[in-house]
Amino acid sequence: RAHESLFSYSDDRFVVIKDHYEQKEELATLSERIIATTKAPMSFAGDHHYLYAEIGIVEVKGERISVDTSLQQANLALSHRKGDPDAAVIFFKDEMEGILLRQRKIKRALRAIIGGKDTTSFSLHFQPKLNLLDGSIYGFEALARLRMEDLGPVSPLEFIDIAERELLIHDLSRHILRLACEFVRALHQAGHESQSVAVNISGIQLLRDDFVEDTKQIIESYGIPMRYFEFEITESVLLENYELINEKLARIKNLGIQISLDDFGTGFSSLSRLSELHIDTVKTDRYFTKNISGEDDDASILHDIISMAHKIGKTVVAEGVETDMQMRYLASHGCDIIQGYLFSKPLPQRDALDFITKATR
Ligand code: C2E
Ligand code: CA
Ligand code: CA
Repeated sequence: RAHESLFSYSDDRFVVIKDHYEQKEELATLSERIIATTKAPMSFAGDHHYLYAEIGIVEVKGERISVDTSLQQANLALSHRKGDPDAAVIFFKDEMEGILLRQRKIKRALRAIIGGKDTTSFSLHFQPKLNLLDGSIYGFEALARLRMEDLGPVSPLEFIDIAERELLIHDLSRHILRLACEFVRALHQAGHESQSVAVNISGIQLLRDDFVEDTKQIIESYGIPMRYFEFEITESVLLENYELINEKLARIKNLGIQISLDDFGTGFSSLSRLSELHIDTVKTDRYFTKNISGEDDDASILHDIISMAHKIGKTVVAEGVETDMQMRYLASHGCDIIQGYLFSKPLPQRDALDFITKATR
C-alpha cells in the first residue's frame, strides 16, 4: 500500500515500514489492525489454527539511524512488555536504552566474575536461621550479592534473571556453590561442626542434564559430606516440568543433600501433591509472615500450613520474621525454624562467623 510496506525479516518476524503519518495514533491503529487480523482463526487441513503477534514500534524522526539499531530498538521495546499479555503493541522509548545499557554492564560484570577476572564485586551473604525448639542456630542461607562500582548494589533478583537469560547461570551457580563450600569449611574449622548451608537453585539449573553430577563433583572436591548442604527450590519451578523436577529432586536427595521448597504458598496450588514431592522442608513465603496480625489468629492461615506440613512429615521454616509478635505466633503454632531480620540480617562471611561464635559462647 502507499506509504506502508511489509518485509519478511526472519522466520517469524516481519518489518512494517510506514513512511508517512501525521500522528502517533495512526501507528497504534495500524498495529491493532495487524494484530486483529492474526487473531482470526485460520482453517488448514481441517483444523483451526491461531496465530499470535506482538509489535514493537520505533519512530524514526528525521535523524539517521542504522537498520540494525532500529531493529534492536524494536526488540528492546518488545522485551519491555513481558508479564503484560494485553500489551501486544509497545512503542520504543529512549529510557529503554538506559535499561539495556545497565543489563549489558551487569552481564559484563558477571562474565568477569565467572572468568575469575573480578574477585571483589561478587560475594555471598549468609543469613542464620533460628531453631525455635531449642534456641540454637539452624544453619545459614547463602544469598548472592553483587556490588558494582558505578551501579552500586544490584539485587539478586535482577542479576540472576540476567544470568538466566544470558546462559551464564550455570557457571555463576558453580561459583556460588564453591563460595558456599568455602563458608561451610570455615564454619567447621571454627568449631561449628553441625552447621549446614542452604543454597538457592534456579529452575533452569535443575533442568540441566549434568546438574546432579556437577554438584556432586564440586562438593566432593572440598571433601565436605553432602548432608551439610540444603538446596532451596522455589515452588513456582514445579508449575512446569513437575515430573522431571521431582525426579531430579529425588536424585539430589539420594546424594544426601536436603531439599527445601521455597516461597511456599504462592504458586503451586495442589497441596495434595506436596506429600509426593522429594523435599524435607517447606519455607513459607514472607507474605504469610507479614499477614500475622496478633490479635486474631484466624487472620493468618500460617498455622494451617504448619499443621498440614507437619502431618506429612515436613519441617517448616517461616521467612521474613521481623517482629517479636510474629515470632511468638510462630512458636505457639509449632513452627520449627524462623529466619528474618528479627534474628539477623544476611551477613558477610566474617560477620556470620562472629555471629555464631558469639551466639554459642
Ligand atoms: P529468597 O530465596 O526468598 O530469599 C529471601 C529474601 O528475603 C532475601 O532477599 C533476604 O535478604 C530477604 N529477607 C531476609 N529476611 C528478611 C526479613 O525479615 N524481611 C524482609 N523484608 N526481607 C528479608 P535477597 O537477598 O534480595 O534475595 C532475593 C531473591 O534472590 C531470593 O529470594 C532468591 O530467590 C534470589 N537469590 C538470592 N541469592 C541467590 C542465589 O545464589 N542463587 C539463586 N538462584 N537465586 C538467588
Ligand atoms: Ca531462599
Ligand atoms: Ca523465599
